[in-house]
Amino acid sequence: MDIDSQAIVARLESIRGKVRDAALAAGRPPDSVTLVAVSKTHPAAAIRAAYEAGQRDFGENYAQELARKRVELEDLAEIRWHFIGALQSNKAKLVVPGTALVHAIDRASVVEALQRRAEAAGIIAEVLVEVNVAGEHSKAGVAPEQVEELLSTAAALSSVRVRGLMCLPPVGEPEKVRPYFRRLRELRESLAGRHPSLDLLSMGMSGDFEVAIAEGSTHVRVGTAIFGERQKRVG
Ligand SMILES: *Cc1c(COP(=O)(O)O)cnc(C)c1O
Repeated sequence: MDIDSQAIVARLESIRGKVRDAALAAGRPPDSVTLVAVSKTHPAAAIRAAYEAGQRDFGENYAQELARKRVELEDLAEIRWHFIGALQSNKAKLVVPGTALVHAIDRASVVEALQRRAEAAGIIAEVLVEVNVAGEHSKAGVAPEQVEELLSTAAALSSVRVRGLMCLPPVGEPEKVRPYFRRLRELRESLAGRHPSLDLLSMGMSGDFEVAIAEGSTHVRVGTAIFGERQKRVG
């Protein structure tokens, strides 16, 4: 598959600059925001091009695709994989070990499956809880008032650590999405006293990452603005 490495690198550098500027404008240190380059459906060569330009964090949505790319790119010693898709318990073994952060946990059965995989591998699996901030029926995620129950379940598990919250709000103009980002930040603040490991917020994508950073995002997940339009899902 042909890729345009130069275009990928140019867009990556432009997004990096915007992430940095948005952090500074919010009075935050630039390194408080991790740019996760979302590479789903794009070939390994596209990831390699971004890696060679210094990118280290990559996000994938499909467990099989992640597992395949991890093998194809195992020579990239410093790569950090993020699993940002909906995870089913029976796919946990494809994701852990080998993933720096699992972004979208929304039920106890998945946390328990990750616990088993992490314990067997002798590691701690770091995860985020996906929150359905807009109460959309069509979307995954835990209702805001049910997050604490899932946190309590996870707190009893020795090999899973919940590091924060994630959201995928309704698509819209950045200013329309801002209240949902703010809601996620406020929810984290309200829970952090009882759950001190909750220090990350995964929010913001190609169209709205600057607003998300202004609202406190620590992980922006940017795909299209770096890699271009997605090809059809490759499996
Ligand atoms: C695909 C995807 C992204 C990236 O979206 P872009 O609009 O291409 O930046 C971010 N987060 C999740 C959960 C995704 O599935």
